[in-house]
Amino acid sequence: MNTESAEVVVIGGGSTGCSIACHVAEQGVKVRLYDQGAVGAGTTGDSPGIVRAFYHDQTLTNLAGECLHLLRQWDEESGGDCGYNPCGFLTGIPDAAVISSRKIVEANSNAVQPMSMLSPMDASAVMSDISPSELGSVIYEPLGGYCDARGTARYLASRAQRSGARIREGVRIERILMERDEVAGVETADGVVRCRIVVNAAGAWAPQLAASCNLPLPIRVTLQGLATVLVSDDIDASRCGYGERALGFYMRPHGPKSYLLGSVLASDSRPASPSDRNLPTSPTALERYVGYARARLSRFDHGRTIGSRFSIFDETPDGNPIVGRDPRVEGLWLAAGLSGHGFKFCPAFGRGIADLIVKGTTAYDFSLFSPCRSHESGAACEVPEKKETRRERITEIRGRKAPNLR
Ligand SMILES: Cc1cc2nc3c(=O)[nH]c(=O)nc-3n(C[C@H](O)[C@H](O)[C@H](O)COP(=O)(O)OP(=O)(O)OC[C@H]3O[C@@H](n4cnc5c(N)ncnc54)[C@H](O)[C@@H]3O)c2cc1C
Repeated sequence: MNTESAEVVVIGGGSTGCSIACHVAEQGVKVRLYDQGAVGAGTTGDSPGIVRAFYHDQTLTNLAGECLHLLRQWDEESGGDCGYNPCGFLTGIPDAAVISSRKIVEANSNAVQPMSMLSPMDASAVMSDISPSELGSVIYEPLGGYCDARGTARYLASRAQRSGARIREGVRIERILMERDEVAGVETADGVVRCRIVVNAAGAWAPQLAASCNLPLPIRVTLQGLATVLVSDDIDASRCGYGERALGFYMRPHGPKSYLLGSVLASDSRPASPSDRNLPTSPTALERYVGYARARLSRFDHGRTIGSRFSIFDETPDGNPIVGRDPRVEGLWLAAGLSGHGFKFCPAFGRGIADLIVKGTTAYDFSLFSPCRSHESGAACEVPEKKETRRERITEIRGRKAPNLR
């Protein structure tokens, strides 16, 4: 068996893992990223990659706004590899949420991330076929849109490589190795890689990996359908994306006269395992999705499903990702449970985790994602923050003898 070494091992070459590997490598740390398949070919590759800032929560809105700004910069810098398309994005809001949403819009609209609140009537100037029925208002983000999620992961992996990272595709990590309560390395079919820091960014496979070292994660894997719908008459000249919780759908343009359309209703998802990915979708489920969209946008009146796929979400109980240090094991970091909306946050998760690993601090507010938040709401474990043992920076770990492998 081979034994190799690295300072940091990142497991998972999705948008999350690639962003972390890229930012760690750019801080001069020896990092290896492993993916059992190809970079960006996990759920990142299934994602419509919608990027927008508005959330019903101020912290998420701030973070998503900063991330959108960074994704736009990355796209410019890579000559368009991230595939950023600023088609604009609208979010439909019910009456009951208008007041709270207005506060968020007023606090966030600026030149970097403009957003405005439109009446349903005014929204028809942006999306001419929108029905105002049971709509309180519409949040309009002219710079919202979508990216090529797989292209973004591959761009980040190549940036990581330029900074000295090793990207290993087609290599599965069988388990995370520990010595007492410290990370000691990872095991692949070919051998062992010794390291003091492991980041579990394995998406829907993250709970299996965590189980390999007896550290359960409260992540539920669910099956999610995505349809490609052809509309006969595309009456929206601007071709914005749109999402609405109350009606239960989101969509964004995809090629001439077609849209990617998904459901956000719990009743349309079901428990699954990662191996269920790519199962055929049921035509009746897809017709339901078209029905939700038709209730708001008349372009879907004669919409025809021309393609579909199933993918999987890694969902936490509160719908927020789990990002940070796992206090149960020294050297183990988590960036998983992205709950179906994590692509847009990859710039912050990459920079933030890298800063925490290398410098011990980050400018981002990751409190919502803490592995220590209450278990019911999605935490990895129940260790309160104050009981965390050490908060080591990589500079302090360097030079110390690695623990023995077991
Ligand atoms: C249908 C759908 C729609 C979505 N829509 C949006 C959206 O519009 N906007 C948005 O922001 N987000 C969206 N998301 C979520 C988003 O795509 C993901 O959260 C994001 O891409 C981050 O994925 P990830 O890197 O965490 O996981 P993944 O991309 O799944 O990456 C995990 C990787 O880990 C690898 N791996 C797993 N186990 C091992 C192992 N043992 N050893 C080695 N490698 C391993 C896998 O091969 C995989 O490539 C959507 C997701 C889906 C499925």
